[in-house]
Amino acid sequence: MKITFYGAAQNVTGSKHLIETEAGFRLLLDCGFHQGHRKEAEKLNRDFPIDAKEVDAVILSHAHLDHCGLLPVLIKQGYKGKIYATPSTADVAHFMLEDSANIQEHDAEYLNRHLKKGEHQIEPLYTMEDAEQTMKQFERVQYFKLGRDWTDIAPNVRFKFYDAGHILGSAVIVVQIKENGSTKTIAFTGDLGRKNAPILCDPEYIQEDVDILLSESTYGDRVHEPFERTEAFIQDIIERTIKHQAKVIVPAFALGRTQELIYLLHKLFNIQGFPKIPIVLDSPLATRVTEVFKKHRNVFDSQSWKDFDPKKDLPLVFDHLTFTEGVQDSIALNSAIGPMMIISASGMMEAGRVLHHLKNNIENPNNTILITGFQAENTLGRRIQDGVKSIRIFNREYRVRAQVVTAPALSAHADQKELLDYIANTKGLKKLFLVHGEQGIINMFAELVRGQNPNLDIQIPERGQEFEI
Ligand SMILES: [Zn+2]
Repeated sequence: MKITFYGAAQNVTGSKHLIETEAGFRLLLDCGFHQGHRKEAEKLNRDFPIDAKEVDAVILSHAHLDHCGLLPVLIKQGYKGKIYATPSTADVAHFMLEDSANIQEHDAEYLNRHLKKGEHQIEPLYTMEDAEQTMKQFERVQYFKLGRDWTDIAPNVRFKFYDAGHILGSAVIVVQIKENGSTKTIAFTGDLGRKNAPILCDPEYIQEDVDILLSESTYGDRVHEPFERTEAFIQDIIERTIKHQAKVIVPAFALGRTQELIYLLHKLFNIQGFPKIPIVLDSPLATRVTEVFKKHRNVFDSQSWKDFDPKKDLPLVFDHLTFTEGVQDSIALNSAIGPMMIISASGMMEAGRVLHHLKNNIENPNNTILITGFQAENTLGRRIQDGVKSIRIFNREYRVRAQVVTAPALSAHADQKELLDYIANTKGLKKLFLVHGEQGIINMFAELVRGQNPNLDIQIPERGQEFEI
């Protein structure tokens, strides 16, 4: 059989890997959207590299768009099969894909309104209808730990899900393929989470012997700080914000980081005497995703039951937390007086309501821009994080005078130590493909793994590269 890496190959976006058996069965792991540099990403998303009609099954690791965002393109181009995912991934993906379709439609509409003479009309990459059709092809498969053993998807192909601990519903996919009388076990980490993260369970080790592992490597170059630091860090920001009657703007990753932050704030606010400030979630998508979290409390970690008494306290609900509804509510926040925290998408500050909050608040040195997650290259978020002195929003320059800080430990990705630990705890490993990491980081991480496992065959695939396995 062979495997081809069509995305997240020496970068962190567009995850999609295709396994083809000798019998001609084609299994696609993830079908992610390319993000980052606009023109290049647009081209990669439009030139879908796989013949959708030839794909027999899709297994989805989790609902981040860089893993699921091109599923509607696959469906639009003729994929008729199932998309296997955990129930919570399916629920979250529903909102993520709807939101993405909405953006595609709006972008196309905007561009078509500004066409120059002779330019062709632009079709959205996909529409809301495509996204709805995609959802019909989902097949919900529960984690192994919650009672679901192997799922057969072809006579000689089966898989199961372990908890990846990265976001709600995230899974490590383990596939077994029988070919020429022998069975190969191939595992894909998807994105791997951290130990002791709020809400989520720790990543589960795979119980089977694994021949081939596809491992993410996002943070192969660094060690995160412990989660306890985050609480003290947020406490400092809140105290400073109260002192200056100021605002904290949190560019929100609608899925994951937002709910973790709400959880931590709730925990802090439950401490006797802790100063409370209004928290406003100004992101319709983040609000919907938070509702999905409430529905799937059965996959929360055991710590959550200790932090919040199930009889009287829900982890993601508290007095000082409100949700905006219409655009008017969002605009009203411009004149609202601090102290307050506004959590608003998008997380890398490329689009969405957060741009309005940034332009209204970034020039005031008393305000804080709190970055909570990975900022990809070529995004506004990355430039702000890197300390640029001025930024451009809606064709106007703004000086960056607010305090810009990055929460120390809110990353949803395993760090170097945790990645090495996961690889070391994967038994029977013969071949390792390192995916989902920026080039320099992935090369460095490969050297580290090589140092610990001199006999392991380690490959760093390029986009489009095919391997016999
Ligand atoms: Zn992810």
